[in-house]
Amino acid sequence: MKLGLYIDGQYVETPETKEIVNPYSKEVFAEVCDGQPQDMNRAIASAYEAFKIMKRMPAVERAEILYRAAHLLDQKKEEFAKLITFEAAKPISASRTEVERSVQTLTFSAEEAKKIAGEYIPMDAAVGGAGRDAYTILQPLGVVGAITPFNFPLNLAVHKIGPAIASGNTIVVKPASQTPLSALKLAELFTRAGLPDGAFNVVPGSGSVLGDILVEDERVQKISFTGSPRIGKELKRKAGLKRVTLELGSNSALYIDESMIDQLDTVVEKAVSGAFAYNGQVCIHTQRIYIHENIAEAFISQFIQQAKNVPFGDPLDEKTMVTAMIDDQSKQRVLEWVEEAINNGAELLLGGEEKETGIVPTVLKNATESEKVVCEEIFGPVVVINIVSSADEALKRMNRSKYGLNAGVFTNHLPQALYFAHELEVGQVLINDTPTLRFDHMPYGGVKESGYGHEGVKYAIREMTKMKLISLNYQL
Ligand code: NAP
Repeated sequence: MKLGLYIDGQYVETPETKEIVNPYSKEVFAEVCDGQPQDMNRAIASAYEAFKIMKRMPAVERAEILYRAAHLLDQKKEEFAKLITFEAAKPISASRTEVERSVQTLTFSAEEAKKIAGEYIPMDAAVGGAGRDAYTILQPLGVVGAITPFNFPLNLAVHKIGPAIASGNTIVVKPASQTPLSALKLAELFTRAGLPDGAFNVVPGSGSVLGDILVEDERVQKISFTGSPRIGKELKRKAGLKRVTLELGSNSALYIDESMIDQLDTVVEKAVSGAFAYNGQVCIHTQRIYIHENIAEAFISQFIQQAKNVPFGDPLDEKTMVTAMIDDQSKQRVLEWVEEAINNGAELLLGGEEKETGIVPTVLKNATESEKVVCEEIFGPVVVINIVSSADEALKRMNRSKYGLNAGVFTNHLPQALYFAHELEVGQVLINDTPTLRFDHMPYGGVKESGYGHEGVKYAIREMTKMKLISLNYQL
């Protein structure tokens, strides 16, 4: 397969190309044009022109395009799932889920397109304001520059494209270099769905080169970035007065209190899935588990038993949950952090070694807070279990993190659930779920180094529109 850049409603062939390698088999399975600065400039110019059409397009037409795009994607579900599995080494069952979620995200976007509304402002509430009617409208910003990561190459692009089109913006997407195919193919579907040429462009290529162009070009009104905190912070610094949304990393924590003793089977099953699904290469992967001392022994023994049986292997195998890491560099980094923690006194309960192009499910116990496996984002199939003697201790340790995306708490005590809900320093608190939970319409965003702003279709639309007040003086 060879794909060009997607600019102005069509594939554009350019001289520079890049091979796309399957991280599991290490075989080259596609070739993609590698965008250069002049290509990014051309895409921005195309999006800027298309905005003249999009900003006047009625909501009902924008919604229809999004419904059609959702339908077309739904018809090609299996093709897209295989594409994700090849480019990201994502287990096929997880890739299918990602495509289904993308269809939903587009459908939510279509529904929200019809609900974008301002409000009535009672001007007579102010002294001297009587005799006027006023209301606000929400207008699109213009060109949105989107930069996306490798781990959800389709749905995280859709989380930017859907809201952008719903609100009458245009968009240029810079996908991760390792996984550009699903976003390119999606752009083609949007053209078939009737989106005006230039409203959705995709330019794969080097993040640092193309990212700088997007962030510095005055025609781009907003940057929407999902990726690592280091790059997110750099982008925000460079963005000046541009609107910025940053969806960044985490080392998400889970607390399980002693009241869960009779439901340990369910809790363990959810915790194992949160820890190891797609190799832990998920921003809300369950990385830190704090377990109450009264149930620690039972929990740990069941957890290890289940973790041992997590299917490892070919991502095309229906049962596989853990497979190749995205690249060797990431694999080496994760193994080094695990070794460092063990050398500093952490107990290795399971795994800790590589297998083929991946790492087997790894469980550490009692790693200290200063270990990288605890305080940094591991982004691998590794979980650290630490035993605590009280809810207060758990809360303190959960909050002792530079990140704050999702946190989970399992408890049967309502006051305790509410206490955690109020005191956890995160964007989302999931009671009786692991932190590894997101539905695509809910508001979703991090605090601290986990992010800035919100996604979740309705909430992303708020950040892609500007409010204008219109006042009518009827007593002139
Ligand atoms: P990454 O290395 O930060 O890359 C993300 C994107 O940024 C890629 O498209 C990359 O392009 C681009 N990029 C690289 N350098 C850049 C620069 N100087 N300026 C502008 N863009 C640049 O992240 P990743 O490894 O793909 O993804 C993993 C990270 O994403 C984790 O930290 C994870 O937690 C986070 N994430 C967060 C969420 C969330 O919703 N909060 C969701 C998913 C993932 P190249 O590929 O060309 O380098």
